[in-house]
Amino acid sequence: MATIFTKIINREIPATIVYETDNVLAFKDINPAAPIHILVVPKKEIPTVNDITPEDREIIGDMYLAIGKIAKDLGIAEEGYRVITNCNEYGGQEVFHLHFHLLGGKKLGPLVS
Ligand code: 5GP
Repeated sequence: MATIFTKIINREIPATIVYETDNVLAFKDINPAAPIHILVVPKKEIPTVNDITPEDREIIGDMYLAIGKIAKDLGIAEEGYRVITNCNEYGGQEVFHLHFHLLGGKKLGPLVS
């Protein structure tokens, strides 16, 4: 089912887009949890990590390539950053369109609280 991220991909609602390819869109999180908080999403509607199939290999690879490019562009590649994907209820997933959170701009705390 289409989520708010599909509406962002289709330019039906606004977002601050920082990077785009044929397979991937990246934009600023509306409620940032760190000085830099970018969401990297596939244009294909894949609800969760559980729904990734072998056909999606190229898309997932493109998402990681996008992360590396964005981190360099934003000047945080060397100091470092964190990449997170939440899955379903226990993972705390709220938007059921696969995405990576790219978090950086400060030294981050413990992984799990
Ligand atoms: P999740 O909890 O599913 O891993 O993360 C969803 C993320 O999407 C949250 O960090 C939330 O702030 C962000 N988000 C939700 N709605 C919007 C929106 O309309 N625009 C943007 N840019 N981010 C959103």
